[in-house]
Amino acid sequence: MNYLMTRTDGSPWTPKQVFFLLRHRNLVQDEINPRSASYECLEEHAFGNFRATIARDSEGLWTFRCQGCRESKLSDGPQRLESWLNKLGLDGSGLRPHYNPMEAADAQAELGLLFDSAGRGLLYRGLIHFLYGKPGTLKSWVALSLVGLSDCRFWDFENGVAVTGARLHALGTPIEKAAYFDSPLTQDEIRSRVKQYLTEPPEVVIIDGFSGLAGVLELDPDSNQDVLRIFTDVLVPLRRAGITVLVLDHLPKDSGTEDYPIGAQSKKSQSDVTLLVRQVSRGAAIELFITKDRIGALSQRAEDGPFPKKLGEVSLSERQGLISLTVAPYRNARLGQNEILQSSAALMESIWNYLSENPDSTQTDIENGVKGRRDNIRQAIDVMAQGGYLIRKQIGRMYSHSAGRPLGIEYDLKG
Ligand SMILES: [Zn+2]
Repeated sequence: MNYLMTRTDGSPWTPKQVFFLLRHRNLVQDEINPRSASYECLEEHAFGNFRATIARDSEGLWTFRCQGCRESKLSDGPQRLESWLNKLGLDGSGLRPHYNPMEAADAQAELGLLFDSAGRGLLYRGLIHFLYGKPGTLKSWVALSLVGLSDCRFWDFENGVAVTGARLHALGTPIEKAAYFDSPLTQDEIRSRVKQYLTEPPEVVIIDGFSGLAGVLELDPDSNQDVLRIFTDVLVPLRRAGITVLVLDHLPKDSGTEDYPIGAQSKKSQSDVTLLVRQVSRGAAIELFITKDRIGALSQRAEDGPFPKKLGEVSLSERQGLISLTVAPYRNARLGQNEILQSSAALMESIWNYLSENPDSTQTDIENGVKGRRDNIRQAIDVMAQGGYLIRKQIGRMYSHSAGRPLGIEYDLKG
């Protein structure tokens, strides 16, 4: 395909035009000089990727600087600019050409590597995934369970040899599968590893976790600028080599929200898929949510509605001394002819079970005997009474409740 980038009227590119054309290279405009910006350099470097600075001076001349490029100041401005913009595959109006989704490679991004209990893959091959959540939500277990299943390289900045070794044993990981762990201590070590992986790409690179990686790179994991650098230097090169990347990341323990702080939003904007693990309270199920899905195949299996969408539940179970990690997929629940929320279905089942063991219970008995919010329990009692799943009798000013006909809730996989 031939992209016509040359400005036919001979006038110089304006900063606005150039920045528009470079916007897909993680462009960040300079706050002080509006005619200057940094972006992912388009030159080939001996090693890695670098952020370059582009600026237009008062005479309309473009200058470029990049630490990874040989000359500190690159000459031949307009032509170089034009060839770089051409590399972006944009047409003369700064648009990408139309694409056919039936032919697009992304649409065929294969799911695999980690599987739910219905046998369906949970990671897109060759893309960047963030799995984030508060401490104690099984993130590391999810990552470690991948070791036995794939050809993976694992950077451990979190748990150390003793804990990680014990967990791998508990998971029954074949010893030869666990031979590719590293805990890089310097920027150079990280660079060398990336270089090595680009030469001989493994299936998966797992990074546990993002803050540790940022620490070694002496960058701030909660600064958008610094996060962009980590994508440019480490994560994007791995993706370009076709490697699946899984990054584990913390949410602050006391944060009320389930999203990244404003300063760290680029983690989400730059990755392809973000997954959240959440536990509402101690003892409750650990729920897995999808919060971004550039491809869309995972969100089709998740609960309807806006992000975050529930994708399933993560749990550990022990059998014959071995621990296994299960990801139970989200299922649509049906009561009679009606679709109901999975959470309502679970609540109704526990109410029905409670009543079959404790007939003639008052509403307060049920509220005390069943886990759940009071208003949800009342609502569930009403629905069950209407459907005959619960028998409600008035005795004086009180109601007594007993189990009615069996609920027979049916569950279907989505997507
Ligand atoms: Zn460069």
